Amino acid sequence: ALVATRASEERGTAQRVDVAVVGAGFAGLYLLHRLRKAGFSAVALEEAGDVGGTWYWNRYPGARCDIQTIDYSYTFDPELETAWTWSEKYATQPEILRYLGFVADRYDLRRDIRFKTKVTEARWDETAERWLLTTDNGDPVSCRHYIMATGCLSAPKPPEIDGVKDFKGEVYFTGRWPHGGVNLAGKRVAVIGTGSSAIQSIPLIAEQAAHLTVFQRTPNFALPAHNGPAPSDRMSLLQGDRAAYREQARQSMAGVPYPQQTVVSWQLSDAERRERFERAWAAGDLVHILTQLWADQAVDIDGNKIVQDLIREKIRAAVKDPETAAALTPHDHPFGAKRPCLDTNYYATYNRPNVTLVNLRQEPIKAITASGIATDKRSFDLDVIVFATGFDAMTGAIRAVHPITGRGGKSLTDVWAQGPQTYLGLTVAGFPNFFMITGPGSPSVLSNMAVSIEQHVDWVVDRLAALRDAGFTTIEPTEKAQAGWNRHMADCSMLTLHRLANTWYTGANVPGKVQGLMPYTGGVGPYRSICDEVVSRGMLGFNLT
Ligand code: FAD
Repeated sequence: ALVATRASEERGTAQRVDVAVVGAGFAGLYLLHRLRKAGFSAVALEEAGDVGGTWYWNRYPGARCDIQTIDYSYTFDPELETAWTWSEKYATQPEILRYLGFVADRYDLRRDIRFKTKVTEARWDETAERWLLTTDNGDPVSCRHYIMATGCLSAPKPPEIDGVKDFKGEVYFTGRWPHGGVNLAGKRVAVIGTGSSAIQSIPLIAEQAAHLTVFQRTPNFALPAHNGPAPSDRMSLLQGDRAAYREQARQSMAGVPYPQQTVVSWQLSDAERRERFERAWAAGDLVHILTQLWADQAVDIDGNKIVQDLIREKIRAAVKDPETAAALTPHDHPFGAKRPCLDTNYYATYNRPNVTLVNLRQEPIKAITASGIATDKRSFDLDVIVFATGFDAMTGAIRAVHPITGRGGKSLTDVWAQGPQTYLGLTVAGFPNFFMITGPGSPSVLSNMAVSIEQHVDWVVDRLAALRDAGFTTIEPTEKAQAGWNRHMADCSMLTLHRLANTWYTGANVPGKVQGLMPYTGGVGPYRSICDEVVSRGMLGFNLT
């Protein structure tokens, strides 16, 4: 492919633009809009048939956001904000996809997006100071700057179980759900996995299927969504002073406008703690319960344990069979160290007569056979297997473009052999004019991603414009700055409880993946200040030529 790409570049058939964006999800769409407004020629390359990213691919039953939709929205254009009204506190996938389509139409973005076009390789040409991107469909792209807006949760993990090909029934992946939907009525269905997608889809699959068997390796903490209209207190805060509300989100720890909690658990009585917890449980809001109970819950295991125990009580109360309740109760990680889930009737679904939970810690899957799934104790005859087994998070989609070759013929895969190395989660030493939106080393998946995406896109486009206006053609972080950022990442991660859990934040869910906490744990607001300070101190840590 590379030979063909070089030949076509020499013939002059490569599409030449200032900036190439890979991905047309939340990030790619906003990038394209901002790049155009800043006067750059740009193209977005997207594997999917339309815009939407996450919300294009994840069409499984029950797919929703779990950050309140009024917060999980673009904020760059006040007119866009008032032109769109969300119907629910947590919008469904079809509504979020309609919203992203509405944004694409409103700013006429589709004309610069090449759909059904996957970027397969990328090579930095040191003489021309340009990137050359190879695609699986149509002309290669020659660009000054290469921005990966390829998503943190966009590379589904392949099944780790032998025999999937032997299975005679239907196989689906939540992250690649068929567009026409799937008829599960009267069928014997298995769901493998109990992460966010499983927890959202299991109650709806159980309603349709003749029988549902859930195969669980690690139980997750799940909290009730209490979905409905957007809560009136949040709406009046937003509508009262939209600009202040949005600004508070940008300066907050998680990208949602809640104040920093200062009271610690031992300053409260049992009754006061329970009262706070019950209020948070009733609010149906992940960020509320993660940040508003007491200040030590995310940083001190004792403060965290109190929350864990209160949630375990809720699970025991919701699930009638004590053995099932025990199997569903998380025991191996602090609350919040693994992404907690929001659910609608998740725990209660296990009280249905047509639902069985299989605890893989006690009876591991031996194989998938022609007729179903065999554990080392039993076999289950099935018509459908649903893999809700998650993603190769944060680095999967980046590494899938292979090779990405930087200065001196260095490949990103080699540079990242011991885990992702970045400066600010945005750039990599040795890879000039290369950017990642919400890359490893930035707050990313530990935040409301709408806020983090806008911050990254604004920072990158503003830098590219400043660079151009000052007559520079390349930007690249120094090795020293990158090493410093990695040390700061490690220092910050010692302060939170994330290090105590094996999760997709740490790469533990993918066999063979290098272990280490990938997102930055210092918080959205502090991170934004660091990025701004880098600029105000003359692009500290970057070489410009
Ligand atoms: P994506 O939406 O993942 O888009 C990336 C695009 O890049 C994809 O369309 C992909 O096809 C394309 N692409 C990747 N590689 C290539 C390539 N080599 N060539 C061409 N195209 C490529 N975040 C929240 O903040 N709140 C939520 O409530 C929330 N809910 C979520 C629910 C689910 C089920 C999932 C999976 C994620 C959720 N997220 C949530 C995270 C979500 O991914 C982000 O909020 C956001 O949608 C990411 O946008 P993006 O544009 O960065 O990436």
